[in-house]
Amino acid sequence: MTSPRTFTGPELVMATHNPGKVRELGDLLAPLGIKTISAGDLGLPEPVEDGDTFKANARIKALSAVAGSGLPALADDSGLVVHALDGAPGIFSARWADGGDFHTAMERVDRELNARGTSDRTGHFVAALALAWPDGHVETFEGRVDGTLVWPTRGDFGFGYDPMFVADGYDITFGEMDPGKKHAISHRADAFAKLLAGCFSANQ
Ligand code: IMP
Repeated sequence: MTSPRTFTGPELVMATHNPGKVRELGDLLAPLGIKTISAGDLGLPEPVEDGDTFKANARIKALSAVAGSGLPALADDSGLVVHALDGAPGIFSARWADGGDFHTAMERVDRELNARGTSDRTGHFVAALALAWPDGHVETFEGRVDGTLVWPTRGDFGFGYDPMFVADGYDITFGEMDPGKKHAISHRADAFAKLLAGCFSANQ
């Protein structure tokens, strides 16, 4: 296997229109001396995410931002995979929350698990990162955190499915966990660590 390509900078487009993600990615890369610009600030269009995996969708977003900017770009895609639901909601995690209503999305996870009559409530969050260059080269990395889906939901921290997810080795949900702690053990932290080791080791 060949080693991942090293990023040599100096500028990188954050291929997301979500201000929270722009901040999180920018904070991570700032200590490495990398200047970040967001796809939103550049007025780039949001591509259709029609891949069938997290990595494929991250790749689509990164290559779209490269095409629009002529610069290297970093994109992410993430979601919740519930084992007894054949991996649902998976790449449709955001879409299960029609209009951003995650309480309804979490209720659906619980309802569908009950309908299956299963005692398997395990699942994992996945985060995929794709770093793309103007010559079309792409490196992808995937991180995960395993846990159990509980009902009723608990806690107000975090976002999305956090209030129903208890990571393995813990007895509180991500919704009850101090955000700094969650960020240290999350699927995103895992994916970032792999990205840094793979493509940014020369900058550290
Ligand atoms: P994305 O913006 O396409 O990556 O969509 C990610 C979706 O997956 C979010 O809207 C959430 O529904 C879910 N998700 C991803 N990461 C997390 C997390 O850390 N906590 C809770 N939900 C998450």
